[in-house]
Amino acid sequence: MTYAEVLLPLPLYGSFTYSVPEALKSSVKHGYRVMVPFGRKKYYTGIVMSVSDVPPEGYDVKEIAMVLDEAPVIRRPQLQFWEWLSEYYLCSPGDVYKAAVPAGLKVESETCIESAPDYEEDASDRLSERESILLQVLDHEGKRLSIADLERLTGFSNVNAVVSRMLEKGAVIISEKLVERYVSRKETYVRVNCDNADSQALHMLFDLVKGAKKQEMALLALLELSGAMRKSAESREVTVKELVERTGVTVPIIAAMEKKGVVARYRKEVNRFKFAGHADGKLPELTPVQSDALSKIHTSWLDVDITLLHGVTSSGKTELYMHLIDYVMRQGRQALYLVPEIALTTQLTSRLQRVFGDKVVIYHSKFSDNERVDIWRKMLDDGGPFVVIGARSSVFLPFSSLGLVIVDEEHETSYKQQDPAPRYNARDAALVLARMHGAKALLGSATPSVETYYKAQTGRYGLVELMERYAGALLPDVELVDMNKARLKNELKGAFSSRLRGVVDEALSQGRQSILFLNRRGFAPMALCRMCEWVPKCHNCDVSLTYHKRLDRMVCHYCGAIYPLPTVCPACKSPAIEVVGYGTERVEDEIEALFPDASISRMDLDTTRNKNGYDDLIKNFSEGKSQILVGTQMVSKGLDFAGVSAVGVVNADAMVSMPDFRSSERAFNMLEQVAGRAGRRDKKGLVVVQTRQPSHPIFAFLTAHDYKGFYEYEIGERRKFCYPPFTRLIYIYIKHRDARMVDDIAMAYGNMLRQLFGNRVLGPEEPSVGRVQTLYIRKLMLKIEVNASMKKVKEILRKAYEDLVGSGVSGIKSATVYYDVDPY
Ligand code: ADP
Ligand code: ZN
Ligand code: ZN
Repeated sequence: MTYAEVLLPLPLYGSFTYSVPEALKSSVKHGYRVMVPFGRKKYYTGIVMSVSDVPPEGYDVKEIAMVLDEAPVIRRPQLQFWEWLSEYYLCSPGDVYKAAVPAGLKVESETCIESAPDYEEDASDRLSERESILLQVLDHEGKRLSIADLERLTGFSNVNAVVSRMLEKGAVIISEKLVERYVSRKETYVRVNCDNADSQALHMLFDLVKGAKKQEMALLALLELSGAMRKSAESREVTVKELVERTGVTVPIIAAMEKKGVVARYRKEVNRFKFAGHADGKLPELTPVQSDALSKIHTSWLDVDITLLHGVTSSGKTELYMHLIDYVMRQGRQALYLVPEIALTTQLTSRLQRVFGDKVVIYHSKFSDNERVDIWRKMLDDGGPFVVIGARSSVFLPFSSLGLVIVDEEHETSYKQQDPAPRYNARDAALVLARMHGAKALLGSATPSVETYYKAQTGRYGLVELMERYAGALLPDVELVDMNKARLKNELKGAFSSRLRGVVDEALSQGRQSILFLNRRGFAPMALCRMCEWVPKCHNCDVSLTYHKRLDRMVCHYCGAIYPLPTVCPACKSPAIEVVGYGTERVEDEIEALFPDASISRMDLDTTRNKNGYDDLIKNFSEGKSQILVGTQMVSKGLDFAGVSAVGVVNADAMVSMPDFRSSERAFNMLEQVAGRAGRRDKKGLVVVQTRQPSHPIFAFLTAHDYKGFYEYEIGERRKFCYPPFTRLIYIYIKHRDARMVDDIAMAYGNMLRQLFGNRVLGPEEPSVGRVQTLYIRKLMLKIEVNASMKKVKEILRKAYEDLVGSGVSGIKSATVYYDVDPY
């Protein structure tokens, strides 16, 4: 008997053993997808991890039901990479599998309900009204329906409960149906109805269309397009669409030709993913300073595989990347170019396509699942050189021969996935991926993360610097506006000091653009009763609601729940509800009122929800169609606009005063990045930062563009308070529906861990948002010395959790416990 170890897309530890039926024996192989039963009735797509003759001990094995592939869809190094992720980030390999593979490759079964054919209502056990309605719907539709379908058709919210009572009464039966989410695309092709090389046969075809001008032309064009006219040309397939576009003949004409037997049409599955773009193949010529940096990178890689490129904003890091990508692609290898924000792929794609043409692959979560599957398959089939530009999830793509990993803006916190598991940092994961492939890695940033710069300082990473802007552009001047003083001097209009208004005005009058940055979307982050200070909060989460003017609703930014803005205060019944504070919507409104002649656009989560949202905004602003861009951190990262002379930071305070050891770093990086959008060409830019704490230490470093000064200050703080890079952190989160139980469990786990790790354990504490989506949250923190074995630490953690479950503390079975390793 043969057995296969199968990985399932479920949050369970380890893989599961299945037996391989005789008939499938030769087709079950490592990396293939198989359908397997799991649980009582469900089917899942599993991945074959290994095959052996050894039966498992202690349980009955089930059989593999079906093999889905004829070639592996997961490569061996990928599985190794998944294993590393699940070990390092303390999550199950199934969680990694779920995140890594597009849904379209994971066929799953769905529970379906149909009416029982021989059911008759029993007088002693009548159907309730809801049950009758449900049965009517089933009979009316006349087919099996999923729970989701039933919820939609009946409008009931708890269909599950209704169905389970009906099951007991024998009124319905349930079964499992496989749902394939991936939809392939088919296209119609057309070919000449004879052997191309057979000139006699061809002559006969021409005879058949003789006199019909359009058909003659179409036949000629078809022969031309398919390559039959030129001896040396490779023959290729021609779609009907292509033929129509190239000749102007209509589909009926082609149909008529088919009827005569001149051509034949056929349908074929095609990959949606087409490499697009025309290249001139010309790399940008580097300046002497850039060339020097490039050769230093190559030299540095002789010693270490990872090098940090510390280059000020607009120094031409992207140009260096292109040279490096070209270098590895010439060796026939692949490159991964990670960017922190999908918005960035837009500008980069056209820049890279100009050089690498159809070898540029873009990958991120805004693609449809079908498109992602097609990209995945394309990469499996094509082992040749290409470069992937992508966000976080592109580390999971099936690279076959990765030669280079570039992580641009390596300091960005958005590289860290917060929820759900795997809570990985794509930068660190990409470095591990590079090591597995024997690839070189380059981290790029104008403001490297403290951890990375520390590694570069201590020789673990190479360090190459690029300290001047391209074409002699100067770094912008940074000015602070003390908002307390401005208020006293009566210089404020809404969110704007007279200085910031003046700067935007000046830019406008010079035909230049401005960017206004505020790290909050919506209109106002809070509503408030002026009489009794009541603040509307989310019913599911412990946060105040953000007012969105366009929706005229209050929205919870944690769970998405939407509420009307009350007209009277529910606490004191006075009609004194007002909204307070600023979000991007309100800034946009005020700036519109201040500069009625300017065209303004806004870039935040709300304006970029659909796939082309970013592209349109960025294109408009690049082409000068709008003069002022208001946005959240999306506008801060790496975008290259020529016309921007002024940048305004509307409110720096929220960033500076976050209760978190990384808050200074995050604020400095973000401000320096936003500032970096200004004056990227000829004219020196100006940045105005509005704050109520102008004496905060980071501002002195910011106004001087003094990254190193900031680093020295910050690394001192980290050393003093034993934070990374001098320790490693693991946060442990405990979530529960019950407020008492969450405390009890957190206390019990904390005490247990303290016995094992002593004062390395901190907490439990209630995080700043103590309840999200109806679950109460507590947090424990583990601070581990850098030289300790993390493997051991993690084993102990896992064991302690098992003991905790065994200890029977109440509520533990319904609690959620998870780990956040290297939290951000
Ligand atoms: P960074 O990535 O360091 O912020 P970019 O690579 O975006 O900087 O460069 C800033 C601007 O200068 C871009 O518009 C880029 O096209 C231009 N630039 C930089 N280096 C060169 C070069 N060697 N040749 C032509 N243009 C360059
Ligand atoms: Zn009130
Ligand atoms: Zn909520």
